[in-house]
Amino acid sequence: MNQSTISKSIFLKGIGLHTGLEANIELQPSDENSGIVFYRKDLKKRIKASWKNVISTKFSTNLGDQNLNIKTVEHLLSAFAGMHISNCLVIIDNEEVPIMDGSSKIFVEEILKTGVKKQKATQKFLEITNKIRFDCDYGYAELVPNNSSEHGLNISLQSSFEGKYEDQNINIENLNGNYPAKISKARTFGFFNEIEYLKSQNLIKGGSLDNAIVIKDFKPLNPEGLRYENELMRHKVLDVVGDLSLSGLPIIGKYNGFKTGHYITYNLLKELFKDKNNYKIVLAN
Ligand SMILES: [Zn+2]
Repeated sequence: MNQSTISKSIFLKGIGLHTGLEANIELQPSDENSGIVFYRKDLKKRIKASWKNVISTKFSTNLGDQNLNIKTVEHLLSAFAGMHISNCLVIIDNEEVPIMDGSSKIFVEEILKTGVKKQKATQKFLEITNKIRFDCDYGYAELVPNNSSEHGLNISLQSSFEGKYEDQNINIENLNGNYPAKISKARTFGFFNEIEYLKSQNLIKGGSLDNAIVIKDFKPLNPEGLRYENELMRHKVLDVVGDLSLSGLPIIGKYNGFKTGHYITYNLLKELFKDKNNYKIVLAN
């Protein structure tokens, strides 16, 4: 399999979920082996989408260093990973990636419209060879090697919404090819009784029923209802795909998680890279 980028630039604009700030983004085709790179046009500074550059995982995945920050990168990264885009430059003129409709649907549609360009360089994959696990006080995640019948990236999640919503499980086998239809349309979500708390933390300033599902009494307040019957769990898969892509390579293996979020997946990647025996770099999926 070869690396790929987008065929031509994509221009989008919108507001950030947490800051409420408007940002323009240009997704620009980029060279082989460059990976996904963010460029803050207003600051003239760039940063690579890598787990090494994560500065915060509280309610969103944020990249940064001493010079800049880029907030809420996970849904755009998820779209790139789900669409097998290896290389892209994301030019942005503010600090948070627009939330769009709360999912990665618009990014995926724009990539499909523009087209994917195959490049000459070979795509490498990161194959899990040892079981890795990260536990915290409320949940866990693990990456385990695929068994002989499994291919690509497999994701199995369990929820515990603690009486705020019905608990659900989801099992997505071989994400390859399943992403646009099964995952990309799933929106981010929140619980009605937590909105005041999030606002008091200076978060969700840009949140509305146009870009998030809000659950009250086990039901969405959104007049249009849900896009998938288990949309919340599918969104969790969407987030896992985006956060895992911060490894820098598509992963071959199985991700199992309970009550996962950005914090857990990021720490799982840190565990993964502690020991080179946990994975091998391979050429073919
Ligand atoms: Zn999300």
